[in-house]
Amino acid sequence: AFNAAVAEAQPALNAFITLTPEKALEAAAAVDADRAAGKALGKMAGVPIGMKDLFATTGTKTTAASNILGTFVPPYESTVSQKLWDAGAGMLGKLNLDQFAMGSSNETSAFGNVISPWRREGSDAQMAPGGSSGGSSAAVSARIAPAATGTDTGGSIRQPAAFTGISGIKPTYGRCSRWGIVAFASSLDQAGPMARDVRDCAIMLEAMAGFDPKDSTSLDMPVPEWEASLNADLRGKKVGIPREYRMDGMDADVARVWDEGIAWLKDAGAEIVDINLAHTKYALPAYYIIAPAEASSNLARYDGVRYGLRDLPPKESARGAGLQDMYAATRAAGFGAEVRRRILIGTYVLSAGFYDAYYTQAQKVRTLISRDFMDAFQTVDVILAPTAPTAAFGLGEMVSDPLAMYLNDVFAVPASLAGLPAMSVPAGLDRQGLPLGLQLIGRPFDEQGVLDAGLAIE
Ligand code: GLN
Repeated sequence: AFNAAVAEAQPALNAFITLTPEKALEAAAAVDADRAAGKALGKMAGVPIGMKDLFATTGTKTTAASNILGTFVPPYESTVSQKLWDAGAGMLGKLNLDQFAMGSSNETSAFGNVISPWRREGSDAQMAPGGSSGGSSAAVSARIAPAATGTDTGGSIRQPAAFTGISGIKPTYGRCSRWGIVAFASSLDQAGPMARDVRDCAIMLEAMAGFDPKDSTSLDMPVPEWEASLNADLRGKKVGIPREYRMDGMDADVARVWDEGIAWLKDAGAEIVDINLAHTKYALPAYYIIAPAEASSNLARYDGVRYGLRDLPPKESARGAGLQDMYAATRAAGFGAEVRRRILIGTYVLSAGFYDAYYTQAQKVRTLISRDFMDAFQTVDVILAPTAPTAAFGLGEMVSDPLAMYLNDVFAVPASLAGLPAMSVPAGLDRQGLPLGLQLIGRPFDEQGVLDAGLAIE
């Protein structure tokens, strides 16, 4: 049934890059066989999911929504996707995303943007599903997939979840292996689940998480039973409300939903405490130095030799073309405008003359931001804030202004820089009928605290 729904919705949503109905059916058949044989079933037995097209899948195209990997078929499987198959899940297909996960609207995909299933009341204008995990958010929100994987470098699970009225959690950095996930900014990249509700996220995260010796930053810690421990009773818990997030000119609906969230957590027994996260305003500039710096380094591997696309200069000049010409032609044809912009920023901030002024400075800011959080967590157990400063915007409304697009990440990037678990849960609609999300940020390794508070809001 999900296979049919996916195929039917594809023209309207463009949520998938590749459909793999046979994989979903194979997994279902395997579960039936296991059940008949009396074998124990996995956590995700028979659940058909969407896989963000950033996770390498053996024998199935893995494009990162780029031309440079446009026809790349990996001979290996990412650790996280393998864990999901081992838990009994099946693959509906590979989900569209912003190219190399760079973006907040899905408009940087080389395969056409994803279209959100949501509309403003009384309008036909197509809305952005958020990004970069916009195929994931659109598919789960449209109910054509019960759940999907996402990745979050600076908000790419949380912001699309908020834009489409679903739940998504970015676990503590290191919980989910990065092995086999196309790298964007390695010190920030984290995989996580996107699903209809908090419980489904907890179940799926248990299947995705766990130590992996193939990822040098993988956490060597047991995976807790988050689902079995879910508890929306917050008596004895303290919830921090960061003053710095209440910015001038904040959307009135976002401010209202935040206040409602505070009231719900109080009802659940929590004590509300105002906190300071003093360096918040430097998080976004630091992120947009560190992430492009790491990206420019990670993307150096796409040289036309080892993976994917290889291009040569036009015919007349091709005679005698050297290695440099091939690199240039391949990368010019293979990378979209936003990816090229990030590579330029990244190589600039890492260049000899500017390294200290930008990159070193940004790393210092990153430390200050982490310290702000650690200080706050001396007093509070979990932090509540909006996921994004606005509801979804329309497709095309922001593309011409990359800075305005970057600003949409303002509430998402601090937790990324600090490597903290953070979740977005749906929290109501704005006056135009679009979903708004609330974000819960927890102590390192305390996904449970984040999930529990999310449950109290949901
Ligand atoms: N919007 C952010 C960016 O463009 C976040 C991306 C992400 O988390 N992958 O960098």
